[in-house]
Amino acid sequence: MEIVNLTLYELRQKIRDGELSVCEVLEALGERIAATDSTVGAYLDYNIERALSEARNVDLSLPLGGLPIAIKDNINVKGELCTCASKILTGYRAPYDATAIARLKSAGAIPFGRLNMDEFAMGSSTENSAYQLTRNPWDPSRIPGGSSGGSAASVAARSAFAALGSDTGGSIRQPAAHCGCVGLKPSYGRVSRYGLVAFASSLDQIGPLARSVRDCALLLSVIAGHDPADSTSLDAPVPDYTANLREDLRGIRLGIPKEYFSEGIDSHVRSCIETALQHCKELGAEIVEISLPHTPYAISTYYIIAPAEASANLARFDGVRYGYRTANPADISELYFNTRAEGFGSEVKRRIILGTYVLSSGYYDAYYLRAQKVRTLIRRDFEQAFQSVDAIVCPTSPEPAFPIGERTSDPLKMYLSDIFTISANLAGICAISVPCGFAQINGKKLPVGLQFLCNFLEEQKLLSIANAYEVTTPWSRQSPPI
Ligand code: GLN
Repeated sequence: MEIVNLTLYELRQKIRDGELSVCEVLEALGERIAATDSTVGAYLDYNIERALSEARNVDLSLPLGGLPIAIKDNINVKGELCTCASKILTGYRAPYDATAIARLKSAGAIPFGRLNMDEFAMGSSTENSAYQLTRNPWDPSRIPGGSSGGSAASVAARSAFAALGSDTGGSIRQPAAHCGCVGLKPSYGRVSRYGLVAFASSLDQIGPLARSVRDCALLLSVIAGHDPADSTSLDAPVPDYTANLREDLRGIRLGIPKEYFSEGIDSHVRSCIETALQHCKELGAEIVEISLPHTPYAISTYYIIAPAEASANLARFDGVRYGYRTANPADISELYFNTRAEGFGSEVKRRIILGTYVLSSGYYDAYYLRAQKVRTLIRRDFEQAFQSVDAIVCPTSPEPAFPIGERTSDPLKMYLSDIFTISANLAGICAISVPCGFAQINGKKLPVGLQFLCNFLEEQKLLSIANAYEVTTPWSRQSPPI
């Protein structure tokens, strides 16, 4: 098998057995990026030479010894560019390692490249990058999903073995679904956010994208855990998530939320999900209908809370401390105004305006406070549901990847892409997307994703259930035509 087609797990085994050297792996990866990335556009920056020199000192007996990992451009890696795909951070280099990166490095991994994304992780298509488009490796006329579009596209295109992304409302799971890879959003607080550039601090989580559930489990075991530098990170023990991953679903109760299966799901997606549910039954699962009654309010709630937090978090980009600064301002307020007007893209400005509005006096109670209350109701829906089921199962996205440009002038339509992913962030629970088949559209195969959700801190159960589905179906091992 070609080196670049290996999963992280297989790669680690071959390196440990001495069948492959880390140099060979990095060279194969460099060639693959050179061959595919002019089409895919996943990388904003990468450096194989430096990775090769780091590889010389790496201890191969460590859990991720010598494994190259690509990183979304909003996670700080000391000395590397960290632009969040925004003009306002052009040329900005990270002064320190995010905790997730420090953990990867001490486990022997080599972060070697920066992946494209929607500016400040705001978007569902990666079209909001200030720098470049990223294309879906299955059909380059379509979006890879977003905001971790570079992460998903590189893993799918075999130009990365695995990547880190971030998920505030679906940004790991939705691109994973559109590109045919596995993407995990951990429970809120499972992974430290220290060194992740903040978008909406009560929703953001770092998580892995890879080609198998086991690979995601391996990465989560390394990056999870308490961190004194992030007071919202949880001091709960980190199990070995790769241990005892099951291969059947006997005794498992899966809940289907009736609100998610109303109209609005593309017919290709619907038929893939129906087949997947049948397969889960054959693996021994019991499938029951459940209700998440506050689902219709999830998008509106998210689009109050996330912009509110973003408007506060993005106040720090003022031309004084970071990155871009406007030329020749007449005074300090012109410095602020012009830097922000020139440095931020239109979606980011829209969010800052929305967020500032819902937080302003007079509107705070009507919007922000009310959204917080609805958030509690959404969380309770899940608490209630998990009293009778082990996991919830549904589509990751209501449709396959859409054509580039289709939604750029219709923000509401773009926001609706996240209808099935946003609730997990509002509730703080964990969720994963695994490939479950293809839609055939215009002669192209477009991946479809199946989402499993489990209760807060139940990553082990989530990964185990997703593994049973993944290893007994062929979908995660397909390569795109690129
Ligand atoms: N698409 C959603 C948004 O635009 C979610 C993004 C994310 O998870 N970072 O906010």
